[in-house]
Amino acid sequence: MARPILLIHGGAGSRAVHGERHEVFSKSLIRILEEVYPLLERGENAVKAVTYAVELLENDPLYNAGKGSKIQSDGHIRMSAALMDGEKRRFSGCVNVEGVKNPIRLAEALMKHEDRVLAGPGAKRFARQAGLPMGSPFTRQATLNFEKKKTGKTGTVGAVAIDRKGRLAAATSTGGRGFEHPHRVSDSPTVAGNFANRHCAVSATGVGEQIVEFAVAAHLCSMAEAGVDIGVASSGLYKSAKRKNAHFGWIALNRKGRMIAKTTTETLIWASIDEDGIQIFPER
Ligand code: ASP
Repeated sequence: MARPILLIHGGAGSRAVHGERHEVFSKSLIRILEEVYPLLERGENAVKAVTYAVELLENDPLYNAGKGSKIQSDGHIRMSAALMDGEKRRFSGCVNVEGVKNPIRLAEALMKHEDRVLAGPGAKRFARQAGLPMGSPFTRQATLNFEKKKTGKTGTVGAVAIDRKGRLAAATSTGGRGFEHPHRVSDSPTVAGNFANRHCAVSATGVGEQIVEFAVAAHLCSMAEAGVDIGVASSGLYKSAKRKNAHFGWIALNRKGRMIAKTTTETLIWASIDEDGIQIFPER
């Protein structure tokens, strides 16, 4: 029996998180960890836990996913999310979907299907038919940022977990970069941004184009599958990313319960929970 562990992140960024901002993020992350962890303690599947964690992150307008998502340059919010069951090696996701309350629930609903990654209006139609709740992700803050033509590099959310049976899973959800070209596709609904196998689970955040160029999540999981320690694989990736001046980070968890979080950006907000309690990074 494995020790259940859950890691969540609220995005990599260029703004330091301290003082009041730290307090606000910590509160949110702790609330989410405490709400989701009992699922793993009860023996639930890691896939259920990461999906629920990302749903709660999407519901909190503090993050750039679901409610609070950034707005693309044509005034539309298009969200993307992906879910990967490491045990079954099964991936599902939605790309640039509008008006769906929780894109990660849409990814979850797609898991059972043959066509497991859907985009745009097709994805929305599927969500409606599946009876998923619709909802506007617009917030005052996102609108203000849009009016200022603010583009960002941050705020995506993600989760990785291992359950009692040692099964790994990863989930990631994003509102994109903000003020980007309409229909730009981020890394989050790809295997670069979200991947898991029987050895490792990874969720990435940062500049999507660069995450794709480094195939971040798939690369780390393949390394783990080939027997490379995830700490060693992560250090290697970090060095190459730094050399290229790339801006991204990731959280990773291997089947032995080893946790890694690394970023080339100034901050990566993340938190973990296991039987020993909660840890929050950056620390106060
Ligand atoms: N990776 C996301 C994107 O490029 C942004 C982020 O992680 O915050 O759309």
